[in-house]
Formats: sequence, C-alpha cells, structure tokens
Amino acid sequence: MNAPLREPSFRESVDLMFNHAARLMDLSPGLEEKIRVCNSTYVVRFGVRLRGAIHTFTGYRSVHSEHMEPVKGGIRYSLAVNQDEVEALAALMTYKCALVEVPFGGSKGGLCLEPRDWNEHEMELITRRFTYELAKRDLIHPSQNVPAPDMGTSEREMAWIVDQYRRMNTTDINASACVTGKPLNAGGIHGRVEATGRGVQYALREFFRHKEDVAKAGLDGGLEGKRVIVQGLGNVGFHAAKFLSEEDGCLVTAVIERDGAVSNPEGLSIEFLKAHIGACGGVKGFPGGTYHEDGSDWLEADCDILIPAAMESVINLGNAARVQAPLIIEAANGPITSGADEILRKKGAVIIPDMYANAGGVTVSYFEWVKNLSHIRFGRMQRRQEEAQHALLVQELDRVAKTAGLKHGLSENFKEQYVRGAGELELVRSGLDDTMRTAYQSMREVWHSRKDVEDLRTAAYLVSIARVAGSYRSKGL
Ligand code: GLU
Repeated sequence: MNAPLREPSFRESVDLMFNHAARLMDLSPGLEEKIRVCNSTYVVRFGVRLRGAIHTFTGYRSVHSEHMEPVKGGIRYSLAVNQDEVEALAALMTYKCALVEVPFGGSKGGLCLEPRDWNEHEMELITRRFTYELAKRDLIHPSQNVPAPDMGTSEREMAWIVDQYRRMNTTDINASACVTGKPLNAGGIHGRVEATGRGVQYALREFFRHKEDVAKAGLDGGLEGKRVIVQGLGNVGFHAAKFLSEEDGCLVTAVIERDGAVSNPEGLSIEFLKAHIGACGGVKGFPGGTYHEDGSDWLEADCDILIPAAMESVINLGNAARVQAPLIIEAANGPITSGADEILRKKGAVIIPDMYANAGGVTVSYFEWVKNLSHIRFGRMQRRQEEAQHALLVQELDRVAKTAGLKHGLSENFKEQYVRGAGELELVRSGLDDTMRTAYQSMREVWHSRKDVEDLRTAAYLVSIARVAGSYRSKGL
C-alpha cells in the first residue's frame, strides 16, 4: 500500500485497506469487485413540521453486502453524516459481521442532524418519520435490514423505531426483531448498552493472553498497570475505560473529549469523570485531573495503549508520525486512515483493528435479535434447573466430607458462587467473550502463519473476505 499524496475519503480509505488484503488472496477480479462495492444507498429527504415551519432532513441507508440477510448496522445522527461515510461504515459492518461469525450482511444508516439542536419530542417526530421512510422500503425489517444505535443514537431512538415499525406492521409477530439496542422493556437484552466497550475489554484481555503478540508491540506482562489514553467518553469509550480501570487494573492516564483533555498519571476515576461531563458539558474543571485545552495533542502522548473511541480519521497523515502509543485498539470505526495505518505499521505499532475491536456491539445485537425471534429470555428455561443440579452436588460433597470426618467442607462463598445459575447478563457476557476470543484467534493464526501478512488488520480482512467470498461462491456467484 503506497502512502497516498492526499488523505483519501473514509470510504476510499476502507477500500484501500480492502485492496491491500485482497491482493494477497486468490479471488477472481469479478468477485473481488463484487465484495468491495456497496450494493445500494438509499437517500431520503423528508420534511417534518417543527416550531411552526417545515424542516427538511437528509437520511441514508446503505446496504453494502447481502451475502447474508438480514443486513445489519447502526443508524448515526450527526451533522457530519454523508453518503461516503455511511457507505464506508456499511462496508465495515460486512467485514465485522463475517469476522465475528454473526450471520448478517453489512448495512449502515445516518441522518444529517445535530441531536442537541432538538428537544426530545422533536427528536421523536424526526425519528418516527425517518423510520417510516425506511420501513416502507423494507430498509427496516426483521428479516431484511435491522438497524441499531450508533453515534448520536441510543436506546431511546431504538424504542421509537420499534414502536413505529409495529404500528406499520400490526400483525408481524417478529416486529420487535426489526431493530436492536432497544431498552429492556421494549424487547432489548441485558448487556447491550455496555457491549461494545465490554468487547474492547475482552479483545485486550485476549491480546494480552498471547505473549508473542504483546512482545510485537514492545510491551510485556498483562493489563495490570498499563497506561491507557482514551479518546471519547461516549458509550463505547466510557464502558471500555470503566471496565479496564475497575476490573483489569489499567490506569486511564488521559481522556480526550470535545472541549480538551484531562490527565492524571495516577489514573482518572472514569465514573466521576463521566458524571462531571454530564453535569458540566465537558472535561474542563474536573477536579480529579489536569485540564489541557488542546485535546488532540494527547493522541500523541506517551502511553501503553491508545483507545480512539470517538470518530473516524482522527489519526491521519497529519499526526500519525507523532503518535507514540505502541498498541492502538480502534474502538471507533475507522479512526486511523489508510495512510496513517501504513506510517504506524512502519513504526512498529500494533493496531487491533476496528472490525474486530468494536464488534461487541453487533455481537450482542445478534443475541438480541435471536432473543426477539425466539420470544424468550436467555436462561429462562435452564437457570433454576442448573441451580438445583449444582445444589445437589454441593450437598453431596458436604455429606461426604462430613462422613469422612473432615473438619471443613466446601466454603460458603464457593457454594454460593457455584450454585448460582446464569441469568441473561451472564450468558450474554459469556457469548461475547467466546466470540471475541475465537475471532482474535482466527486473525492471529493468519498473522503468524503468513509471511506476507504484517498486521492484524490485513489478517482480519483476509479472514472476513474469505468468508464473504465463500458465501457468494456457494450462491453460485
Ligand atoms: N453501530 C454499531 C457498530 O458500528 C452496532 C451495530 C449493530 O449492532 O448492528 O458496530
């Protein structure tokens, strides 16, 4: 991959990375092209009467690949939304789903608006109207196209979407599977909100299980004590930072937000910082760290792990050479441009690529969709039966210990933990952990076994493209 003279667009950047990997594969040029191109993009302009006037909004839904259906991907609300971006994100969804073996094609949607400009009621009207426009073309549909939250959207919008879809399809028994990331009381699943951040944590845990890989980044040991810088304390960045600091002993030494950065070499308290941002609108004035007006400098600061969790193209030709982090995990989609990727690779940095690193969201979306189609919560049938079985075993072991005259049987703490059956949240986390471990192993196998594959991103593309190609071939394409 030659360093481009100008920074390519986001979609071009994704295509360049795809091409770099596809060159190492034995695909017919026709099939390669079929996989790369975005199948369709629907652009809609609709008017909503708000504040006494008609306001026109532009929305998109791109379908990148229908090798599996439904196609899947979030809906983003942002003023920066445009066709190029939505198509790039849809392509990443295709590769992401293939890599983590989630049986969906890739799609993405976006609405060009600034959510903070509108109040809740107005947002509901806009969202319902956008849903109507997409649903009437089957671009929201349980078996064809299933959106989810993305930047600027959350459970709230998903609840409006599912309700609107249901009103339009009153006899569809599977209506709740038309969108994922819903609140629990509207058909959601435990653990979906935290899922992407949780997936970042599981991805890092898996990476640190492989000493050889850790050494490639010039690091050693485990996650304990690693200095982490996070860009973006939105849903993904917040959960990743919280779990890594509270559960794995990482020190989040800096957080970069819209209004600057806040740092503390002893580690920031993520819960407090999030509460401060909620109350004050930014990191400025946070008592637990030092404020810096120029946040972007902190992408280049000394740390062990850099987690860009905000938006695309933040590490680009302009700053890549100065980025010091030896390990970067892309919690956002496309935070590193293709040119920057090459610069960082040459410097020896290890990048855990977006299509793997942030796949936790779509993985748990898949569990939610399955739950909706089966109309039953995970664990409902087995939980108490498992508990009863475990209790039997514990009682018997206690009896044997007593009969043998042993002073101590099983500890109360062990008994309590062993007997407790898994609820939905435990099952979701277990399924996510398994998915993240398995996908990492499939990437690393390619990374270590092929001399021409220098990095995890190329390995990830090789695994996903091969799967998508296999699926097209079996359809006779
Ligand atoms: N928007 C998320 C992503 O980029 C989630 C997509 C989904 O759950 O369908 O992966």
